Amino acid sequence: MVRVFTFASGKGGTGKTTMTINLGTSLAKFGKRTCIMDADIGMANLGLSIGLEDVPVTLHEVLAGKASIHDAVYEGPGGVQVVPSGISLQGFQQSDPERLRDVLKDLTERLDFLLIDAPAGISRDGVVPLAVADDVILVVNPELSAIVDAMKTKILAEVVGGHVRGAIINRATAESAGTVSQKMEKVLGARVIGLVPEDQNVKKAASAKVPVVIKYPTSGSSVAIRRIAAGLAGISYDKEVMEPKDSFIDRFTKVIFRGKR
Ligand code: ADP
Ligand code: MG
Repeated sequence: MVRVFTFASGKGGTGKTTMTINLGTSLAKFGKRTCIMDADIGMANLGLSIGLEDVPVTLHEVLAGKASIHDAVYEGPGGVQVVPSGISLQGFQQSDPERLRDVLKDLTERLDFLLIDAPAGISRDGVVPLAVADDVILVVNPELSAIVDAMKTKILAEVVGGHVRGAIINRATAESAGTVSQKMEKVLGARVIGLVPEDQNVKKAASAKVPVVIKYPTSGSSVAIRRIAAGLAGISYDKEVMEPKDSFIDRFTKVIFRGKR
């Protein structure tokens, strides 16, 4: 049975695309049949980030009824399957959201995981990915405004029948991560499923168009992302995932997961 995760946020630029690509690549490298899909039609930068920008068929053509989803699946890093999006908006905006549901049915038959990169904010394009997911994962940065941001996205997800599994705090720093994690859990009632540190290697890897988990596998962000991927897959990260040195992320993660595993 496939499990569908949608990565969402109220604000843009929190790291949804980065998380989708790197968690997807990690799951594929764990041997899980995994596909990542770019439903962020406005930005459409998932394919761009991994060198799949010049492909002939994208999700756009599929949602416009001009192509089969099977023609829009490409081989990505680490063996992850990739459905990139096109640049033109029109076809997607005119499409019936139900079409995405049918498309997913065809796509997910032989998958363990489908990770959907959703657009930021509240829009018609963003609603469908929230509704079709088994679990919505909020991607937030460690600012207090992120709580409000996450709250709006959580409410929207629940209104359309989605279920919020929790939040990833991305670009965490030692100063901010603890406070934001606690507030997120207390105020929002959303579990923090992981922290990913601010890490320059993320940007370096992105300019090389390679996921950071492949380009810099021992970097702090890669270790944190693999740990989250292991959690999503129900794999014990102690065995499968390289352990970090005693970083602040490690200490926070231990606090967060205490009693929950
Ligand atoms: P979104 O898809 O939510 O708009 P992106 O994944 O495109 O966000 O990330 C926005 C920017 O932040 C990109 O330049 C990305 O390389 C950078 N970024 C994301 N996560 C991190 C991180 N943990 N450390 C440093 N830079 C990051
Ligand atoms: Mg994005």
